[in-house]
Amino acid sequence: MGIFLPGGGFSLIYRGGDKLAAMQIRKLSVKDLDLKDKRVLVRVDFNVSLDEEGKIRDDTRIRAVLPTIKYILEEGASLILLSHLGRPGGKVVEKLRLNPVAHRLEELIGRPVLKMDECVGNRVRQTTRGTKPGDIVLLENTRFHKEESQNNPEFARKLADLADLFVNDAFGAAHRAHASTVGVTRFLPAAAGLLMQRELEMLGELLTNPRIPFVAILGGAKISDKIGILHNFLKRCQDILVGGGMTYTFLKAEGAQVGRSLVEEEKIEEAREILKEASGEGCRIRLPLDHLVAREARDGVGVRLVDRGEIPPDYLGLDIGPRTIELFSGIIREARTIFWNGPLGMFELISFSQGTRAIAELLAESGATVVIGGGETVSAVKKLGIEGKMTHVSTGGGASLSFLQGIELPAVASLMDKK
Ligand code: AMP
Repeated sequence: MGIFLPGGGFSLIYRGGDKLAAMQIRKLSVKDLDLKDKRVLVRVDFNVSLDEEGKIRDDTRIRAVLPTIKYILEEGASLILLSHLGRPGGKVVEKLRLNPVAHRLEELIGRPVLKMDECVGNRVRQTTRGTKPGDIVLLENTRFHKEESQNNPEFARKLADLADLFVNDAFGAAHRAHASTVGVTRFLPAAAGLLMQRELEMLGELLTNPRIPFVAILGGAKISDKIGILHNFLKRCQDILVGGGMTYTFLKAEGAQVGRSLVEEEKIEEAREILKEASGEGCRIRLPLDHLVAREARDGVGVRLVDRGEIPPDYLGLDIGPRTIELFSGIIREARTIFWNGPLGMFELISFSQGTRAIAELLAESGATVVIGGGETVSAVKKLGIEGKMTHVSTGGGASLSFLQGIELPAVASLMDKK
């Protein structure tokens, strides 16, 4: 196949992000490709978490790409799968080989998976050249080569040489411009996989066409990770419910007493600006009315309930209290679209998991469109066994945050546009 250069490629960063979201949704789909008798290079996100013995802790990311894998095989193509795992830093790290992933994939799909010990080179080229429709080859961890993260064109060309077509289903890696996500698209026709499409549609809808009232629930550790989303969402949401560690930077900005709670001093001014900007936009930022506080962040210590901004000097705010849960619940019941990112307290500790649990359970019963945006919130939802009750649980933490801030995802921008 000759060199193929997709048109344009965007490099804009929209603050608003709605035009960007709309553009990114109009990408060519795997369903638009003629796959018969083709060798298809599919970038997946098999970056699963492994335990000390190298066993897979959570196979959600493998399950999430099964529809794309099955579709491509059913259309009469052979599959060459490509993924990173962990951060080997450009060299071979034995415990970051993709062997456990290959075994799990075989079990899930019920067909043999030929696992290679390299992702480029003569043996890989010969093997992939010889594939027949229905064959599945899994290449080795792309990050064993430093050229991957450098988006080295020569390395990308070697990957692209293995196949006729490229499909990207690795939404979790879409915010990175690497050789296996962006570089290969210079050399092969490139389309979005089914998971990538669903992620872009579900997250895109939040930016372009949410049913209102649209409510965002933002928590987690730091305000600095969520500032971009806050700016972007306060133009769109009727209410933003704030919990978790970021609460206290907002409260300090209002002059409240926050004791030894987590505060990002350098973000206090920006927090103040966000509160002002929100009131100008007609968005209500709802800060907790009460807090569960303790002298130390661990189970088994004395827990006190205090009102907003009355945290004693030697105490830390670690969860939202019952009056806050009641306030948030009332708003959530009225909402028609809900986005949630970040636990509302230190939910890993039983003593401070009540707020996160109560809100998650309410969302599971909600008739609204509920989108969960990656990271720790996904762990919380899974721990409660209510993952299946959400409209969409994003597989990408960093990628979903970037997208919702209105930042272009380079791996999506470099895919071909629909005709
Ligand atoms: P993130 O990755 O930003 O969503 O942050 C998740 C982390 O925020 C979890 O590990 C929580 O334990 C932590 N977190 C939630 N609430 C608090 C709090 N009040 N103080 C400190 N950390 C918190």
